[in-house]
Amino acid sequence: MAKKVEKKKQPESKVYTCSECGREISGNHVYIKTKRRTELHIHYGCMPMGRRDEHEG
Ligand SMILES: [Zn+2]
Repeated sequence: MAKKVEKKKQPESKVYTCSECGREISGNHVYIKTKRRTELHIHYGCMPMGRRDEHEG
């Protein structure tokens, strides 16, 4: 009887850590590449307000 070796294929699911809340990110998220070759992964909900409106507050 030949032994059948089954290798479980692990999906390449890279686990990122949110730069804002520090929790793991799974699925779609915001990817930011800074000038310092730093890659940031942030939840959509953790994205800091980037809107610069004239009216602050
Ligand atoms: Zn987050």
